[in-house]
Amino acid sequence: MPAAHQTRRLRALAPAKVNLCLFLGPVRGDGRHELVTVFESLSLADSLELSVLDHGDDRVVCPGVPEPNLVSRALAGLRAAGWAGPPVAIEVFKRTPVAAGMGGGSADAAAALRLAAALAPVPPPVVTEIAASLGADVPAQLRPGPSLGTGAGEVVEPLEPLAPHALVILPAPAGLATAEVYREADRLGLPRPAEELARLRRALAAALAHPGAALPDELVVNDLAAAAVSLRPAIARALADARTTGADHAIVSGSGPTVAGLFWGEEATARAAAAAGALSGRYPGACAVVPAAEPTGTVEAA
Ligand code: ATP
Repeated sequence: MPAAHQTRRLRALAPAKVNLCLFLGPVRGDGRHELVTVFESLSLADSLELSVLDHGDDRVVCPGVPEPNLVSRALAGLRAAGWAGPPVAIEVFKRTPVAAGMGGGSADAAAALRLAAALAPVPPPVVTEIAASLGADVPAQLRPGPSLGTGAGEVVEPLEPLAPHALVILPAPAGLATAEVYREADRLGLPRPAEELARLRRALAAALAHPGAALPDELVVNDLAAAAVSLRPAIARALADARTTGADHAIVSGSGPTVAGLFWGEEATARAAAAAGALSGRYPGACAVVPAAEPTGTVEAA
């Protein structure tokens, strides 16, 4: 008797990110802002499952997220570039809050590109180009881990692992649109001159050149925080609440509205877990997270 037909399935994690710092610069010719940022990938992650289909069109299932999904756009980009993989269905299991400043959609798109490349080869420069076309945060998520983002965030240099740290994540009840936060930053006059951005980039690169470095206090800054607070004053309260837990820093993640308390040191995980426990009543979904474990590869699913 012939063996039962088995559908090939692959899985990948799509870790959420925080920006441990984000310095905003002038607007470029393409309308995007220059920035200098440190991305960190987190243990909070969506997971994606790719199934090979016998025939038909590619399909994406992602409950709770309206189309067009960034995963569908990643697949469409691959097909347009001539990717020869078989038709696939990708299911996204969301855990990262949506429109939260944690890069969930970008991480999903990057994970979809990793899954597709594991199925049928794609030249790495093509993957990078598709990633950048989907959003400035997508390239940094192709190889999750700490990285320095420049350009509009799409120019990514991996960083050495940072000193031990953990975060308490305080989700907000509703998301914020990234574009609106950048517009508010312009209205408030927050962007820095190009020379200052270049100086901060050099300071960050020097501070983080060695494995096990912690971000110096004066560089734990998110220039978008004031814009996010201006649009959503409740963020100021969340920052104050994060500070009351003894966090070394309270930060807005990316363009917000998620707030994180950042803890450095060997006791960081326990301190972040205690903070999550203390704040979970006021912030449903509050959780402690650590940097994403390496490697975040793709695995064959049973
Ligand atoms: P950014 O990368 O700009 O920081 P964010 O973290 O604030 O983004 P996302 O969760 O990535 O926000 O979602 C931004 C928008 O992208 C959402 O409003 C949603 O409609 C759309 N989107 C498309 N695909 C996805 C996806 N797979 N997961 C989440 N959102 C998605």
